Amino acid sequence: MKPLCPNAVLGIVGGGQLGRMSAIAAARLGFRAHILTTEADGPAAQVAHAVTIGAYDDHDALRRFATAVDVVTFEFENISADGLDLLSSLCPVHPSGRILRISQDRIAEKTFLRDAGIPLAPFHLIETGSDLAVAAETLGYPFILKTTRLGYDGKGQARIHTPEDLAPAFARLSPHPLVAEGMVDFACEVSVMVARNAMGEVVAFDATENRHRNGILDLSLAPARIPAGLATRARELATDIARALDLIGIMGVEMFVDRHGGLLVNEIAPRPHNSGHWTMDACPVDQFEMHVRAVTGLPLPPATRHNDAVMKNLIGPDDMALWPRIMATPGLLAHHYGKAQARPGRKMGHVNVLFPHGGLPGEFGVEDALGPLASPMEVDGDADGHDV
Ligand code: ATP
Ligand code: MG
Ligand code: MG
Repeated sequence: MKPLCPNAVLGIVGGGQLGRMSAIAAARLGFRAHILTTEADGPAAQVAHAVTIGAYDDHDALRRFATAVDVVTFEFENISADGLDLLSSLCPVHPSGRILRISQDRIAEKTFLRDAGIPLAPFHLIETGSDLAVAAETLGYPFILKTTRLGYDGKGQARIHTPEDLAPAFARLSPHPLVAEGMVDFACEVSVMVARNAMGEVVAFDATENRHRNGILDLSLAPARIPAGLATRARELATDIARALDLIGIMGVEMFVDRHGGLLVNEIAPRPHNSGHWTMDACPVDQFEMHVRAVTGLPLPPATRHNDAVMKNLIGPDDMALWPRIMATPGLLAHHYGKAQARPGRKMGHVNVLFPHGGLPGEFGVEDALGPLASPMEVDGDADGHDV
C-alpha cells in the first residue's frame, strides 16, 4: 500500500469519542476526516466533516460515503459486517471485515485465538439447556455466562454460582447462543494496544493495568505494576494476535493476570481503546496517531512512553461535577468528549496524570495522587451534581 499523502480523506464509521480523537490525530497529520454517524452533533461530528445517516445499514449512504474517502476505518464494533464488506468493494477498509466479524462474536473470537495458540480461559458454546448443564459440570462453580454478541461494559453477562442460577440466567440472557467461560481468579487485569500496518510493521505500547467500577473502566495505570517478564509476555501475545489476524490498524487486547502469574486473553477490540487513552499525554505518538498511521500506510514509530501515567475516566454527572475543579488544578491533563448530556454510566471524558518513570504510586496511593478526582462523591453540589 502506498502511504496516503496529506489532504487524503480518512473515512471513520462511528461518531463517538474514539472517532473524535482519531479525527483530531488525523488532522494533525494533514488528513481530512469524514465521519459516518447517526449522531449529527455527536463527539466526532463536532470536530470533523460529518455525514449523518439514519442507520449504518443504509447501503446507498455507505456507497456515497465510500466514493468520497480514500480509506475507511471504524471506531466501534457494532456496525454491520455486511455494510463494511460493501464499503470494502469500493475502497480500502482497515481493519478488515473479517477481523470485525471475529471480534463481534465471542465464539468466533475465542475459537480464532485458541487456534492461534493464544492462552484463554476454558469456554463452551451454549445453545441449549443441556449444553449449559455440561458446561457447568466441566467448568465447575462459579463460572460466567455471556452473550456472544453486543456485550459491553459487562452488560450481557451473568455469574453462575449454583445450579439454581442456570435456568434463570439462560432465560434472561439473549439472544442465544451464549458462551460459558471458566471464572478466572485474577490478580489484575491488563491490556495492550498493538498496531500493525500493511508493510507488516508491528508496535505494542506498554501493558496497562485496568481497574473497573460498576463494570466500567475507571482507572488505567501505565505501565502495569506486574513483573517485567510478564509485561513483555503480554506485549508478545498482543503482537502474535495482530500478526495472526493480519491486522491493519490498532487493537486493544484485554488480558487477565492469574494468581499463578499466567496470562489469559479475555477479548480483543480492533480499534482504539479506552485503556489506551493514557498514551495521549505519556507517549510521543499516541494510540490515535498510531491508528491513523497504520490505516493510511505510514511508518509506525516505536510505541515509546516518556512518562508513567494514570488515566481516570470521567463517567456521568458525578464525575462531570468535578470539571471546574479539574480545570483549575495544574497537572491534570483533561480531555472532554463534547457530549451535552451527562447521563449515569456515560463516558464524558478522561483525565491523565503523569509521573516520572518508575514513579507510579503504590496500591493505596493511586486515588490520592489524582487530587480532586480522589473522591468524586465529595463535590460541592446538589444531588444532581449541579454546583450550588
Ligand atoms: P468491555 O466493556 O470491556 O467490552 P464486555 O461487556 O465485553 O466489556 P468482558 O470484558 O468480557 O465484557 O468482561 C467484563 C469484565 O468482567 C472483565 O473486565 C472482568 O473484570 C470480568 N470478567 C469477564 N470474564 C471473566 C472471567 N472469565 N473470569 C473472571 N472475570 C471475568
Ligand atoms: Mg467487550
Ligand atoms: Mg472487556
